[in-house]
Amino acid sequence: MAAPNIETIVSLSKRRGFVYPASDIYGGLGSSWDYGPLGVELANNIKQSWWRWAVYERDDVEGVDSSIIQNRNVWKYSGHEDTFSDPLVDCRDCKARLRLDKLDVDPADGKAMCSNCGLKNLTEPKDFNLMFRTTVGAASAEDDPTALAYLRPETAQGIFINFKNVLDTSRRKLPFGIAQIGKAFRNEVTPGNFIFRTREFEQMEIEYFCRPEDAPRVHQEWIDAYSAWLDTLGISRENIVHYEQNEKELAHYSDRTVDFLYRFFPEREEEDKQFDELLGIANRTDYDLRVHSKKPEDADGKRINPDSTEDLSYFDPQTNERFYPYCIEPSIGVNRTLLAVLMEAYTERTNDKGEVRVVLQLKPSLAPIKVAVLPLAKNNDGIVTLAKKLKRDLQPSMRAVYDDTGGIGKLYARQDEIGTPFCVTVDHESLEDHAVTVRDRDTWEQERVTISELENYLRSRL
Ligand code: ATP
Repeated sequence: MAAPNIETIVSLSKRRGFVYPASDIYGGLGSSWDYGPLGVELANNIKQSWWRWAVYERDDVEGVDSSIIQNRNVWKYSGHEDTFSDPLVDCRDCKARLRLDKLDVDPADGKAMCSNCGLKNLTEPKDFNLMFRTTVGAASAEDDPTALAYLRPETAQGIFINFKNVLDTSRRKLPFGIAQIGKAFRNEVTPGNFIFRTREFEQMEIEYFCRPEDAPRVHQEWIDAYSAWLDTLGISRENIVHYEQNEKELAHYSDRTVDFLYRFFPEREEEDKQFDELLGIANRTDYDLRVHSKKPEDADGKRINPDSTEDLSYFDPQTNERFYPYCIEPSIGVNRTLLAVLMEAYTERTNDKGEVRVVLQLKPSLAPIKVAVLPLAKNNDGIVTLAKKLKRDLQPSMRAVYDDTGGIGKLYARQDEIGTPFCVTVDHESLEDHAVTVRDRDTWEQERVTISELENYLRSRL
């Protein structure tokens, strides 16, 4: 089967309650999306999988959860106030507003072409800062400039400014990392492609601190580690390419960045246009810890940050050296991960009646619902009571649902379409033999399992 395109996933998402257009009853709000009952479960499962892998299964990573709104100086010294911008151009012909760095260039004259009308009549680029502005307290930013604040455009800075807090309270030694999951906001010029590019999104970031000379090796270790983690989500390597950012593309803090591009757009003709960023792994050097430190550090001994009250350098007791650690940052969006997971899982199968069925082959650990308990006869009190009891008994250890709102074929199809790995059917015999039928989503095979064994059976297969 050909890979599904985003439109197929959008339609499944709306139909089954993964993702809805936000503010829909008021006509929507450009590229904002709300996560429905299944979407929130899937996103939570992705986040849990990441946290377990990034924090619990390692010995060298701690977690934090920092504020979305911080002192404005965080963004002044991080460089975001000055440089977190996209080059914006307007097309004089069709009036489209575009990001210059995303446009095709005509090799004949080196001029960028409007992606909307194809002409080359563009205005000079203007830098547009992507940070959302807000004010803290009752004053307006015009009356009181100190009231100006930003919604964070990345979770990373909340980690850097807590570097010393975490170091002191967890008594860590290099190398170690700090992980965070949280919302980030960017006033994107050209959001779109469903949840691929939105103005509000969620990031899962690790800032991993090490000695400067170890940074290249640690960088490679994280690249390998992420390839392995994506495997566990069912994201196949043939749909991923690694892209080394060139000097013009590198962010102001980065020495080297490797992006993992995913085949989000399989319908595009040119193969390299099919891929776009799923995650980036950057070597941020000692840039962030240095710029947030109060210590004079430039060659003339000039104080480069008069507002910070802390020095974020690290003292190595073994070598008696004080220095600023380097930082390797793997950063991945929850939303783009969820989209990739859905695209990978989407399959279509034809049943023996010749009907095409959507089967979402999610890894069981990610599936929003692990098991659906279905009564074969919804008018039979004994069957219904037993089925409801089974659902309640399973619920503490796995997400289970009860459904009796259709014939069994329809109920199975409904669960296949949302990726439920197992359906448990309660029938007349169940009342006699204390056994139920367990149906496998991927093989459609059925097996009779004793009720007393059911939970263990499902747990072992999940
Ligand atoms: P892009 O080049 O696509 O704008 P970026 O390089 O600016 O992305 P990063 O700053 O590296 O992105 O952010 C890390 C991760 O956060 C990205 O790999 C992506 O998964 C996610 N992300 C960034 N911007 C958005 C957005 N507007 N919508 C959804 N996810 C995003």
